[in-house]
Amino acid sequence: MELWFTEKQGDFLATSYRVRKTLHTEKTPFQDLAVLDTVPFGRMLVLDGFVQTTVGDEFIYHEMITHVPLNSHPSPKKVLIIGGGDGGTMREVVKHPSVEKCIQVEIDEKVVEASKRFLPEIACGFDSPKGELIIDDGIKYVKEHPDTFDVIIIDSTDPVGPAVGLFSREFYSSVHRALKEDGLFVAQSESPNYELDLIVRINRDLREIFGLSRTYVAHIQTYPGTMWSFTIGSKKYDPKKVDPAKIAEIEGLRYYTPELHVGAFALPRFVADRIKEQV
Ligand code: SAM
Repeated sequence: MELWFTEKQGDFLATSYRVRKTLHTEKTPFQDLAVLDTVPFGRMLVLDGFVQTTVGDEFIYHEMITHVPLNSHPSPKKVLIIGGGDGGTMREVVKHPSVEKCIQVEIDEKVVEASKRFLPEIACGFDSPKGELIIDDGIKYVKEHPDTFDVIIIDSTDPVGPAVGLFSREFYSSVHRALKEDGLFVAQSESPNYELDLIVRINRDLREIFGLSRTYVAHIQTYPGTMWSFTIGSKKYDPKKVDPAKIAEIEGLRYYTPELHVGAFALPRFVADRIKEQV
């Protein structure tokens, strides 16, 4: 018998993946969690019916949410990750030689446990001596740590459930306070094809709070629309003006390149125009 997993985008679009085996399901205190072995992308982490990451294409998201902001700062030493329970972002952050400490605050320890058990090639980030994992609400943690971090990475689920507040203006103000005077942060900011209003609103908030906001894109097969966006709020450095020749090479990357760092900020016209118009 053929088994398929279908992810719904609202009530108008769905993507289906053929499943070899359901490896794990549980109801955590925060969300429904599943790990599936899929035919096209291998093992896949699913929360509340939405694909979070797959062994097949995770490198694209994790490299782009990490190396773009870290290479936009001249010397990031102290980094905070909010969310990111699969460990892939931590795995990428600790590759940077300047990083001395990476604190990760994930609300749901069951995501971490399932990732360590079923996605060890992604969760290996948690083994680094530079890393520290705290199980708590990222919104609360950020409020309680002013003037502490060089770079903050918001690796969250979609704006539903415990992640709703991670997309709020109030949270972005707390992030601004938690950063040092030349700090910057990045948030995964959803699909330009389906969530353009949200991306425009995030840019407007960040420009007011930080002075500078920049959206960039990457192409991730298992996210709706495949074109995915990330948005940076920065107090000082412009991530678009980084000189690719000065970016130090990190071995073993499969998507991010210094040229792509700059190229990723070249937005399709329908995205660039909306952001420019409304900000
Ligand atoms: N790459 C993924 C994506 O875009 O779909 C996100 C991956 S990661 C699994 C997202 C994590 O954010 C989840 O493990 C979830 O528990 C966590 N999260 C949601 N709200 C949170 C909050 N308020 N504080 C800390 N972590 C949170």
